[in-house]
Amino acid sequence: MNQVTVIAVLGLSYCGSTLLNFMLDSHPDIYGGGELLWLLRKKYGDGATNVQCTHCHEHCSFWTPEALSEVCESRFYDYIGGLFNVRVLVDTSKNPSWFENIRKHPSNREAHFVYVILTKHPIRHIASFFTNTLYRKSDDYLLNALARLFSYQLPLSSKGRSQAKMFIDKRLKKRFLSSIIRLIYGYYYNLFMNIARTSGGSPVQVIQYENLVACPEVTLSPVLELCGLEYVSSMQQCFKYPHHQIGGNAGPIYQASHSRIWGDADDPGNALRKKQYDLHSGIFLDNKYQKLFDSHEIRWLSSIKSVSSLCKMLGYNTLP
Ligand SMILES: [Zn+2]
Repeated sequence: MNQVTVIAVLGLSYCGSTLLNFMLDSHPDIYGGGELLWLLRKKYGDGATNVQCTHCHEHCSFWTPEALSEVCESRFYDYIGGLFNVRVLVDTSKNPSWFENIRKHPSNREAHFVYVILTKHPIRHIASFFTNTLYRKSDDYLLNALARLFSYQLPLSSKGRSQAKMFIDKRLKKRFLSSIIRLIYGYYYNLFMNIARTSGGSPVQVIQYENLVACPEVTLSPVLELCGLEYVSSMQQCFKYPHHQIGGNAGPIYQASHSRIWGDADDPGNALRKKQYDLHSGIFLDNKYQKLFDSHEIRWLSSIKSVSSLCKMLGYNTLP
């Protein structure tokens, strides 16, 4: 049996897929590729520029400019498995139609797929989404607001202060949160409704991010078993090793980088997010929600019907 096995990760952005990729990549027989869909999006000019290894950038000995230019739909996973000399690889693209399309390409029909649906407690996921998407907008308005939410000592101008006050206006925050809830609910509802079509009969495992952090061996062993592999303890030390992945969340990438340089260090939004990761070493449970929401807001969130339905659908208690 020489076919490639692809661990295809599904889940909404900020579900913890970069951490999962790093953990799997720390297994000697697995290449954690990250968001491999970017390799082809670059080729077809779909908005993606500067696609490269997130660890070595343009100096990667695997993802050389030549290797990047040669990758195409045809034998997509075989080619990448060959580059890294493995038969098991991880693709955290998370987009169901990406997997449906690449799997259907005649040259990829030999590949085995193991689908992983990665979930996070909805309230924790809402907080991750909220901070990650807002941090990316580097205008003073949002930054000062977030600086206050996280009690950072930033110089707040009087304009910034009044804007931050406006932002923290409960109705505005609720409106932001409601749109994120709709997004998370919609993604997972559609994912579960269509999983038979997406997976095409391949095995599907559901992993809760919280279990991945608390008990990696028990959580990952069933997925590894489907790939003919066993858990190895190095997976728990994933931040000690370089990971030659494509795309992914800047936070864990920063945590795993030995140079400790965060992409665009001049962006004040990045400086704020960097602080979150400087507080931790190794694998840690993301509890941003406790800083972001007060007890009334948590009660309000858990009382929303789509949040409680989502908790039920994903197997969580109403509170994280
Ligand atoms: Zn590299």
